[in-house]
Amino acid sequence: MTQTITVIRGDGIGPEIMDATLYVLDAMDVGLRYEEADAGLVALEKHGELLPQATMDSIRRNAIALKSPLTTPVGEGFSSINVELRKRFDLYANVRPAKSFPNTKSRFPSGVDVITVRENTEGAYIGEGQTITEDGETATLMQKITRKGSERIVRYAFELARNTGRKKVTVVHKANILKTTSGLFLKVAREVAALYPEIECNEMIVDNTCMQLVMRPEQFDIIVTTNLFGDIISDLCAGLVGGLGLAPGANIGKDAAIFEAVHGTAPDIAGQGKANPCALLLGAAQLLDHIGKPDDATRLRKAIIATLEAQDNLTPDLGGSGNTMSFAKAIASRV
Ligand code: NAD
Repeated sequence: MTQTITVIRGDGIGPEIMDATLYVLDAMDVGLRYEEADAGLVALEKHGELLPQATMDSIRRNAIALKSPLTTPVGEGFSSINVELRKRFDLYANVRPAKSFPNTKSRFPSGVDVITVRENTEGAYIGEGQTITEDGETATLMQKITRKGSERIVRYAFELARNTGRKKVTVVHKANILKTTSGLFLKVAREVAALYPEIECNEMIVDNTCMQLVMRPEQFDIIVTTNLFGDIISDLCAGLVGGLGLAPGANIGKDAAIFEAVHGTAPDIAGQGKANPCALLLGAAQLLDHIGKPDDATRLRKAIIATLEAQDNLTPDLGGSGNTMSFAKAIASRV
């Protein structure tokens, strides 16, 4: 059966890695039809809006989107379209796997297989209470944690463990200092963990977690944490296994899900054919899992691994001399 998904090409390297990803998906013949929609700077230029209604309608209709990165100006200017999409569709679970891959010149070419489950709608990212005094000397920001938000993300992590045969969930927090917000998250996490006695649960303070991840990443299986900590930790995990070019992310809600690469628009290499398409391809593998095509997801991941093993047309970030499309073609030849 053919399924229609919304495809957002995005900014910077976005169109290049999306072309490469769709090339591989087409070679796999997985029965996907693409409905293109604009968001980000491209949408602003074409439609005068960063997030046009037609794009929202397309995601709502199809419930599944594959999205390339979108530009967000640092410090000032418009606020993040990624954060906006997560808010509008209540995409509360951000699921970011980091796994060792061969020939990636990483610190840990084997032994890392950790999934960060990041709360995606609360914490420091709610965009409320951000003020700065006129003299520019004092800035504030509000963090909000709720029982409902904490409960559903921790449940998501434990259900993920149960459904994928994973053995351990680590709850990452800073409840020793952030006693109300992180404290509530930890309290609720303990209650939820008690409902899953077959899955080991441990607690770790976020600063120690960062050190432990760098020293002994093999001790982690699934990490569940609040928004800001999850954002930082998942990039750290990506770094452990060879960089952002290999790190995918899924944003999952009750009514919609958006799959993407963890990395941004990489303006320093945009338009040069140097971008590694693997992160978005691995995002597509998460999408295939999500829509009930786990065999195709495995086929895609195996083709990526085989291509890395053969060092066939790898992009420069992996030490190769291939380009975005030649790397994709090498992967497509193995699906
Ligand atoms: P970035 O992830 O774009 O780039 C960081 C570094 O990693 C750069 O050196 C870049 O060349 C490299 N890199 C990233 N992806 C790569 C790939 N596929 N292949 C090879 N190298 C790759 O981070 P940044 O420079 O901090 O952000 C640039 C823009 O992207 C900003 O506007 C930011 O807001 C946006 N951003 C968007 C998303 C998203 O849409 N989900 C995520 C993060 C950042």
